[in-house]
Amino acid sequence: MQGKVSDMEGKVRNYQTKFKSVNQENEALRDTMVQRQSKMVEMEKELKNEYEEELQALSGVREELEKVSSDKSTLQKELSNLEGKYKVMETLRDSQETELQTLKLSVQESTLARVQGTLRDTEEEVRSLKETVAQQEDELHAGEMERRRLHNTIQELKGNIRVFCRVRPLVDGGLSKHIQLPASDVKTITLAKTEESHTGKTAETQKNYIFSFDRVFGPMASQQEVFEEISLLVQSALDGYNVCCFAYGQTGSGKTYTMEGAEYDQARGVIPRAVQQIFRAAEKLATQGWEFTFTASFVEIYNESLRDLLYTGKASKRPEHEIRKSTNNEVTITNLTYEKVSNEDQVLGLIALANQNRSTAQTAQNDRSSRSHSVFQLDIEGVNVGRDVKCKSTLCLVDLAGSERMLKSQSQGERFKEMTAINGSLSNLGIVISALANKESYVPYRNSKLTYLLQSCLGGNSKTLMFVNIAPESDSFGETLNSLRFASKVNDCVIGTASANRK
Ligand code: ADP
Ligand code: MG
Repeated sequence: MQGKVSDMEGKVRNYQTKFKSVNQENEALRDTMVQRQSKMVEMEKELKNEYEEELQALSGVREELEKVSSDKSTLQKELSNLEGKYKVMETLRDSQETELQTLKLSVQESTLARVQGTLRDTEEEVRSLKETVAQQEDELHAGEMERRRLHNTIQELKGNIRVFCRVRPLVDGGLSKHIQLPASDVKTITLAKTEESHTGKTAETQKNYIFSFDRVFGPMASQQEVFEEISLLVQSALDGYNVCCFAYGQTGSGKTYTMEGAEYDQARGVIPRAVQQIFRAAEKLATQGWEFTFTASFVEIYNESLRDLLYTGKASKRPEHEIRKSTNNEVTITNLTYEKVSNEDQVLGLIALANQNRSTAQTAQNDRSSRSHSVFQLDIEGVNVGRDVKCKSTLCLVDLAGSERMLKSQSQGERFKEMTAINGSLSNLGIVISALANKESYVPYRNSKLTYLLQSCLGGNSKTLMFVNIAPESDSFGETLNSLRFASKVNDCVIGTASANRK
């Protein structure tokens, strides 16, 4: 036990020593701590000073921050405000857009409706215009038919048989003394003859023969002027009436000049002018639904026999011709060339061919053309299908043989035969026209080839025009008197205006 107590006492001493060193150590640590505390206070002081500034600066920042955040909230408010406005605007825009769309649609609809309306109006207008056109076409047609009727009435009042006198100019111009044409009057011609007195007395030696006709053309009358009068009859031919135009007179009096004329424009005669008028008029009538067909023929009557002037075959094979009359009174010539023509140039070509044919038949001593009749015929057929009307007519233009009389002693053989044939056919022509004018029951058409050929163109509703051509030379006095007497006999029996007075 003692051991143990000594151990224990050792240990207590140990511990007491230890305690003493720990105490000492503690003392030292307390000092260090005090030191450190004061150091800390110092440091705290230092820090306090240092942070005071920073704090102050920080409070500035905070204020700023506060301001910024208040700004931010203001802005946010504003933003949300704007956003609200924007939303309103958007809705507004949307509604306006829809409104615009509806508006557009309605505008389109109204435009469409308006266009449709205009279209309807236009269609209506077109229909009414079409009606007007149809009505005007009817009126035009009625007008055309009325014009035809009136034109014919005028022609009939003027006389279905008319005689014109035409005096050829002297070769060196002027007018011969024995022919007098009063300036005031276009219907009278006076033939004056001063005869050598057999008894020596001068009284009663002056003889005046006064003739009046439907028209007298002096030597200055142009082809155009002459044609103007005939063009009315040419119109009648187109209207469906037969028309016959003759040139009568002694050889050299201007028959061929009147009927055919010369090549150059102003000198063109009745035939080319009539043909031109007909084709032009037909062209115009085509717009009113008329369709025309034209057939031309050209025949020569020499010594009472017929010759085709449009014949183009061999001379040795020339056929014979006969005049045939059909049951409907249409006259045709057998084996004759009937040429369909559709324009002026074709006809002019045929006239040239006829002239060539005629000249080959004559020799220097035998001027056959003056002793034969040449007959140009244009058959006109018009149809207006739409109106169901037709017209058919013939235009005959005849250059007669010279009317001069030959002394019997001078004419023998062939010449005598010719003379008899010419005299026969010309006087028969006078007789036929007189008979027609006097409405006699018997008309001797058959007495000559000329009247037989032309019978359908003479009489009835036909229009006949006789030109009496006069040569102004004083040595033609006798022939001139004969021609005027013949013509006035024809004229006289028609309307009674012609008179052959002998003073
Ligand atoms: P016909 O045929 O009667 O025998 P023509 O027509 O051949 O006569 O005429 C004879 C001549 O007189 C021709 O040279 C013709 O050119 C001319 N002649 C006829 N009439 C006229 C006239 N009105 N103006 C000018 N010359 C004409
Ligand atoms: Mg002639």
